[in-house]
Amino acid sequence: MVETVKKVLRKSPVLKTPAFGCLQGIPAINITRGCLHRCAYCYARCFPETPSHGVFLYQNLPEKLAKEISSRKKRGLLPDVVTFSTASDLFQPHPEILKITHCSLRLLLEEGINISFLTKGRITNEFWELFALYPDLVEARFGLISLSLTYHSLFEPRTANPYLRLRQIEKASLIGLKPSVRIDPVIPQISDRPEKIFKLFRSLKNVGVKEVSVSYLVLRPGVMKQLRQELPRDIFFSILRAYQGVPWCQVITSATTKLVQKERREEGYKLFRQIGKELGIRVRVCGCKNPDLPYESCFPWGFSSRKRLSQGRLFK
Ligand code: SF4
Repeated sequence: MVETVKKVLRKSPVLKTPAFGCLQGIPAINITRGCLHRCAYCYARCFPETPSHGVFLYQNLPEKLAKEISSRKKRGLLPDVVTFSTASDLFQPHPEILKITHCSLRLLLEEGINISFLTKGRITNEFWELFALYPDLVEARFGLISLSLTYHSLFEPRTANPYLRLRQIEKASLIGLKPSVRIDPVIPQISDRPEKIFKLFRSLKNVGVKEVSVSYLVLRPGVMKQLRQELPRDIFFSILRAYQGVPWCQVITSATTKLVQKERREEGYKLFRQIGKELGIRVRVCGCKNPDLPYESCFPWGFSSRKRLSQGRLFK
C-alpha cells in the first residue's frame, strides 16, 4: 500500500512538554502524526489519533516554532533542550517531511538550543552538514535492536537497514557527536539470544559506542493486535510465551500494558550487562519501562546543560 503524506496545519503549541518518564518537562516535537516506518511493535500506531495509513505532516510547524521561540525568548523562557521523535521518527523517507524536519532543527540549533533525537531512519547529507556545525548541541540516539536482516524485514522493514545505522553511528562520532544507542524493544526469543547480543555489541564497539540503554518490549492490546497481524504465526506465539501469566498493569501512562516475565527480564538484562562488560560498553536498563526492577535512569541528556536539568530548571 502506498503511504500518503497529508499536509495539515498544526493548531496546538509546538513546544509542548510531555508529562511522563524521563521526558518530563522537556518539550517534545513530532513532525508528523503517524510514522511512515510503521514498525510492527510501535505503540504509537495504536494511539486513537494516529492515522491508520499514511501520516499527517504539520506543514506550518517551522513557522509556529519560530514564533514560539521568539515569544519565549522575550520572556526569558527558551528551553535548554528540545527532544524529537516520541511518537514518530524525524528522519522518515519522504522529501516534504525531511524539509520540515530540517527547518525545525535549524531554527533550534541557531538559537543555541540543544536537540535530542532517537531514530531508526536514514539521515541525509543536509542533516549531517547541519549537525557538523553544532556538534555540542546535538544528542543523537540511534535505535538498533538486532543486526539480523530477517529481524529487520519482519519488525522494521521500512527503517534504515541495521548496517546503514551502524555506519550512521560511526559518522556521528566522526563529526564530533557522542552517539548513544537504544536497544528497545528487545523482542523475547528473537533478539535476546547470547550470540545475537554479542554480535550486536561487537559491531557497536567497532563504531565507537560506549553506552547503550536496553528495554524489553512492553505489550499493549493494540501492539499485540499488530504483531498478530504482521508476524508469522509461530513467531507471534513464541514471543507471547514470554508474557504468559503476567497481569496487565500500568507502565508510564498506559494502564493496560504487559511486561515480559520478571525472571526472564532479569536474566536477559544480566546477559546484556555481562556482554557489555566484556566489550567495554556500559548498559543501562530503562527504569520507566521496568517499574518492578530497581530503578535505573537511562536519562539521555548528556549536554553541558545537564546540571541545570538535574536541578529541575528546564527553561533558561
Ligand atoms: S520508527 Fe519509531 S515511531 Fe516510527 S514506527 Fe518505528 S517505533 Fe514507531
